[in-house]
Amino acid sequence: MAERYYYSIASGSTGNCGLYRTEDAAILIDLGISFRRITTALAGVGLRPEELSAVLLTHEHIDHVKGLPMFLKKTRVPVFASRGTAQVLAEKQPECADRLQEFDSGDGFWVRGVDVTTFATPHDAADSVGYILSDGTSRFGFATDLGFVPREAAGLLRGCGTVVLESNHDPHMLQAGPYPYSLKLRVSGPAGHLSNPDCAVFAADLVKNGARSIVLAHLSEKNNIPELALQQTMAALRGLPACAVQVAPAGCMGEPVPLEEDMSCSLSG
Ligand SMILES: [Zn+2]
Ligand SMILES: [Zn+2]
Repeated sequence: MAERYYYSIASGSTGNCGLYRTEDAAILIDLGISFRRITTALAGVGLRPEELSAVLLTHEHIDHVKGLPMFLKKTRVPVFASRGTAQVLAEKQPECADRLQEFDSGDGFWVRGVDVTTFATPHDAADSVGYILSDGTSRFGFATDLGFVPREAAGLLRGCGTVVLESNHDPHMLQAGPYPYSLKLRVSGPAGHLSNPDCAVFAADLVKNGARSIVLAHLSEKNNIPELALQQTMAALRGLPACAVQVAPAGCMGEPVPLEEDMSCSLSG
């Protein structure tokens, strides 16, 4: 049976990793959990780490690269990172230097029949990015760790059938929560993380532009509740065309999310 799915392997401040899988390609986005956990999760879908086509990193924060050193040691799989991200990683871990495939944010490249487009995300990292992956039939968007959705990113994400979108925090829980004031400002600021209401507004925009499946991702453990994030986005989608919405679980593998058709393909026949 043809495999065309996105699987969330881990999502949130304790670690991020997801698997994009088509018939020909298996691509991991971020390596924010241990190599052992990655290996176990991949075994669950019949893959070994060395069988991966590539890894795409979004940025250098530890919840996205925790498993990177061991991954580089154990496999020869190409790992892609933006120039700024690669520089910071190489400074911290010299052994990464000659192993990362660098690109400029905004560039595109191909991985086993998948057209990868990159875009800059506003976040307090060196050179963070999000991704659009197209295999000719489906168009998949990935955007987490962004303080807001910039115009360019929004333009690329519109038309994606399946989108992984950050729904990081509830603003009231963040304000009343345990974080120090400076951290509250950082999280809610323009270089922080997307809140539930901001996610909901943009999710409605995406559904109006063809999204049929949305995965709410990178939920804060302290400042969010999965039901709350889900409710907010579902409420914003009322009256719009049907769209499946699910929350990426923090510490375990999510249900397979089908890669939905690229609306621009079907519109143009
Ligand atoms: Zn981050
Ligand atoms: Zn993060």
